Amino acid sequence: MIFFGTGSASLDAVKAKNTTCQHCNNQDTVYINIYRRHAHVFWIPVFPIGKSGSSFCTHCKETLAPKQMPEALKMQYKNIKGNAKGPIWQFSGVLLFVFLIVFAFYSNGRDKEKTQIYLSNPVIGDVYEYKADSGS
Ligand SMILES: [Zn+2]
Repeated sequence: MIFFGTGSASLDAVKAKNTTCQHCNNQDTVYINIYRRHAHVFWIPVFPIGKSGSSFCTHCKETLAPKQMPEALKMQYKNIKGNAKGPIWQFSGVLLFVFLIVFAFYSNGRDKEKTQIYLSNPVIGDVYEYKADSGS
C-alpha cells in the first residue's frame, strides 16, 4: 500500500497573446496551462510543492514544457505562473493538523474545568482517586 505521494491541481489555462504555434504556424491556438503539485498522505493533500506548467496548441496538439518554449512564450508563461493562485484545499492536511492540536488543547482545558466543578460539589457516592506524594 502506498500512503503518500504527489498529485496536482490545474490552476489556470490562459490563451497566449500574439503567439504563433512553432509547429503548425497557426496563430492564437496556443494555451498556457498552469498547475500546482502537492504532497498527499492517505489521499489528503498536505501541502503544495511547487507550480509548473506547459503550453498546448489546440490545433496540432503540440505540448511544450517550459524549457522547450520559445523565449516570448516563456515570458508569458512566467507571468501567468506568478499570478496563478493555488486552491486552499491543497493545504487540507496542514489545516487538519492545526485543528486537531487546537481541539486537543481545548478539550484538555474543559476536562480540568469539569474536575474543578465536580470537586467543589461533593455528593454521596462520588469516588475520588488521588496520588499521594510518596507515589503510592
Ligand atoms: Zn500548433
